[in-house]
Amino acid sequence: MLNEFVYCPRLFHLEWVQQQFATSDDVEEGLYLHRVVDRETGDLPDKSEAWDGRVARSVSLSSPRLGLATRLDLVEDGGDGTVVPVDYKKGHPNRDGRAWSSDRMQSLVQALLLREEGYAVERAEIWYAETRQRVHIAVDDAAMQEITDTVARAWRVASDPVAPPPLRDSPKCARCSLVGICLPDELEALKTPPRQRRPLKRLMAPVLEGRPVYVTLQGATVGVRSDRLEVRSSGELQASYRLIDVSQVCVFGNVTVSAQGVRALLSRDIPVLWFSYGGWFSGMAEGLPGKNVDLRIAQFRASEEQQLEIARRMISGKIRNSRTMLRRNARAELGRVGDQLKELAIQARQADSPQQLLGIEGTAARLYFASFPAMVGKGSRVDVSDFQENGRTRRPPKDPLNALLSFCYTLLVKDLTVTLSGIGFDPYYGMFHRPRFGRPALALDLAEEFRPLIAESVVLQVLNNGEVGPRDFRSRAGGCMLETSGRKAVLRAYERRLDQEITHPQFGYKASYRRVMDIQARVLGAVMLGELDEYTAMVTR
Ligand code: SF4
Repeated sequence: MLNEFVYCPRLFHLEWVQQQFATSDDVEEGLYLHRVVDRETGDLPDKSEAWDGRVARSVSLSSPRLGLATRLDLVEDGGDGTVVPVDYKKGHPNRDGRAWSSDRMQSLVQALLLREEGYAVERAEIWYAETRQRVHIAVDDAAMQEITDTVARAWRVASDPVAPPPLRDSPKCARCSLVGICLPDELEALKTPPRQRRPLKRLMAPVLEGRPVYVTLQGATVGVRSDRLEVRSSGELQASYRLIDVSQVCVFGNVTVSAQGVRALLSRDIPVLWFSYGGWFSGMAEGLPGKNVDLRIAQFRASEEQQLEIARRMISGKIRNSRTMLRRNARAELGRVGDQLKELAIQARQADSPQQLLGIEGTAARLYFASFPAMVGKGSRVDVSDFQENGRTRRPPKDPLNALLSFCYTLLVKDLTVTLSGIGFDPYYGMFHRPRFGRPALALDLAEEFRPLIAESVVLQVLNNGEVGPRDFRSRAGGCMLETSGRKAVLRAYERRLDQEITHPQFGYKASYRRVMDIQARVLGAVMLGELDEYTAMVTR
């Protein structure tokens, strides 16, 4: 980790303190290169023995006194009673033909720990695979002092709960595997007044890798075999996916996930989420909780005023997005609704208590949903007139439009629960929604601004494109629910929506909604940790 510290102290903090990791082509290539040297093929010979050309591979060394541990790719006989640590790197030396400073630091740590063990080390070497070159590094007293000082600085950074600020305009960021987690340019942009912001160059991939797998086939079993997720029914293979392509497994109703399957999924940080047959999100299993403890501490310690300020911005953002939805999609004249929503969005920013904010949000929701059927076009095969009479109903939803809305909100909250949890938040402790048993209150908070953009947009798509019809719903005991066929149609539309790329309103680059939700959760984390003074909701124009 010391090489990360030398590369960028923030990278060191994110990986070592917050335990946030992301893979990249560079990381994967590095792992591939290490497949040979990571095979342990020899202990270090005793200091008193002659090496006689012997080598030791993949040797682990540590020093509690120095607070250091390392794994040496290779240790060779250096002649004259000395040994040489050799490190394998996939890239190339710098322009002067020397080792990069972060690579050099890692080699010096290896030399230091070998010296701690009593071996004589006068030089270290790095093998750069790309140029097939060995680069020598002098190991003298000055170098040992340098590494000792660097270790002391790294420990100071590690003891601070807040990560050092991102590098500014650094070429290192474009090559950094954590750029989508660190958000260097994005955090800087959010500190700049909106009118002075310039569009950013996106440094991360526009879409997140991996997709959820939804299993709705009743009686199916889900297991893992040879790094593939398999769905079987009566023993027959129905579907199979490479695990590296799977981000979560969502099972509906009577679907069994084998114990071995759950363990294999959790070991790869793939959560398993259970839903009732009707689509009620009833639980989730994930690997060990996120190690970003400082984020959870900051979340729980947030003052009531800070929580209210974040909630104001989220609710105001939601109302503005609702207004934009109506403006874009309503086929009838909206009358004063647009102006009223605009006014309510302003009032939400000024609410002086959670109760007042709740009242404003309720008023805006009533106005918005009263106009919602105006966005359903002639292409719809589903009669939404009941919604006009019922208004928004839940538990149970009373008509098809309410059933669609409820199901899409469930999907949205499920994804935000997974996202927030993965970052290290406790998704059950909210800012606006109060904690209640089993309710992912923080995910519900963050969902507010995304409801119109994602959930309600999907509802309109499946209705207006005729993707659902009357047979996709079933009415029972005063409620209305989606049939399996309807649920599948919604799931397809929902995933399509998450993959849709939009121009990010704050940053000016293209990103999928899936990526945008991830960024937004990380922005919230930056506010909690004091890296940003204020939360900026995701609001489209
Ligand atoms: S993206 Fe840049 S600032 Fe952030 S951790 Fe990586 S190198 Fe450091």
